[in-house]
Amino acid sequence: MPRVVVLGGGYAGLACLIELSKNDKSLELHLLDAGVDHCKITNLHKTFHHELEKFTVSYAELAKKFNFTFHQHRLDFSEQDLARWHHQQKLPLPRKELPFDWLVVATGASPIQLHAGPGSFGQNELRLGNGKALLENLLETAAVEPLQISLVGGGATGVQVLFELHEQLRRKRVPYKLRLIDQNQRLVPNLPEGVDKYIAKKLRRGGIDYLPGTNYLGHTDEQIQLAELATGREYSLPCQQTLLFPGVSATPSTLETNAYGQIMSSGRTLENILSAGDCSKFDSSGLNYLTAQAAVRKGKLVARNIVRLSGGKKPQTYRYQEKGYLVSLGAIDAIGWIGLRCNLVRGFPASVIKDGMETQYDLFLNGVDTYLDFP
Ligand SMILES: Cc1cc2nc3c(=O)[nH]c(=O)nc-3n(C[C@H](O)[C@H](O)[C@H](O)COP(=O)(O)OP(=O)(O)OC[C@H]3O[C@@H](n4cnc5c(N)ncnc54)[C@H](O)[C@@H]3O)c2cc1C
Repeated sequence: MPRVVVLGGGYAGLACLIELSKNDKSLELHLLDAGVDHCKITNLHKTFHHELEKFTVSYAELAKKFNFTFHQHRLDFSEQDLARWHHQQKLPLPRKELPFDWLVVATGASPIQLHAGPGSFGQNELRLGNGKALLENLLETAAVEPLQISLVGGGATGVQVLFELHEQLRRKRVPYKLRLIDQNQRLVPNLPEGVDKYIAKKLRRGGIDYLPGTNYLGHTDEQIQLAELATGREYSLPCQQTLLFPGVSATPSTLETNAYGQIMSSGRTLENILSAGDCSKFDSSGLNYLTAQAAVRKGKLVARNIVRLSGGKKPQTYRYQEKGYLVSLGAIDAIGWIGLRCNLVRGFPASVIKDGMETQYDLFLNGVDTYLDFP
């Protein structure tokens, strides 16, 4: 029985396993992940007020549902390791080696590390389920002195986290001051113009300070250190809490693939090792952004290509084009585009569509695939 091993059980890895379990019953499927549960990380900003468990599903449960064997293990690797594994057709696990016919590398991306002083907080802390505790600490501090909070990062993730926190603090009616710090001159630069203006207006209305063109240098002694990019002027501002959301980079590095998802290493194709998700860059016209939307489509494509290649058929090219992107701005507001980049949606309707996208993924994890726009 041909064996497929998937390394990394995020959006891409699971999409690949689910697609394989539906389309080819003759394959033996394995998943290796460092953790014990899959996290729907597109919801992490909601964990200031929801338990993390609301957004996780255990791999044991998914393994039963989609008929794969789960191994909890962190397997670090370099590009040289991939070439060696390809040659040997097996992975080095602690107890014994795991032979494979096909390997899919879907190890995602990790937060960019900035100088994290005491009191700083980022995506990894949210993933550990520390969002609620952070909010409680902030509320305790606010009972003694007015809060000063800085968030670094004006991309989609930073903005979503900022407005969620703003909403939670406003509901508790505590005195607080929020500021958004960003190196760029424009918020969410990957999204169409108009999105940044809507967000900037909402920042002004919410009394949130916005410092574009500003570099974060560090956080010490209830002070945040900053530098103006244009002039190089360095200065400090009072701040009890800094949140760091400066973006992510591929783990362990970007893996270049051909148009079918097979990894290219030193000019050579590793025919039996494919990649999908945030860690992969496909050589095709398909969407290569680091988003869940692209991760699911790449995961499904490499699954189909494994089935096609095993059956001696030509693999399919990755051609998926983005269908829209929405940034949530609290519980009942969002902004983004749908269908065409010039078609902006905002406010409550946008927020309902965004919730619908999360529901679509929940359905997918329950075996109901409504991602029809394929490949
Ligand atoms: C707060 C937040 C909000 C977001 N919102 C959106 C959104 O609204 N829309 C959108 O499209 N995208 C959004 N994104 C981006 C989206 O979550 C990612 O693009 C998506 O998770 C990528 O999927 P992936 O499978 O490549 O990686 P991941 O989902 O990160 O999964 C990677 C998996 O690999 C495992 N792993 C990594 N290294 C190893 C190793 N060495 N050994 C074993 N296992 C390993 C990890 O444990 C993890 O389970 C958001 C991200 C964040 C953080």
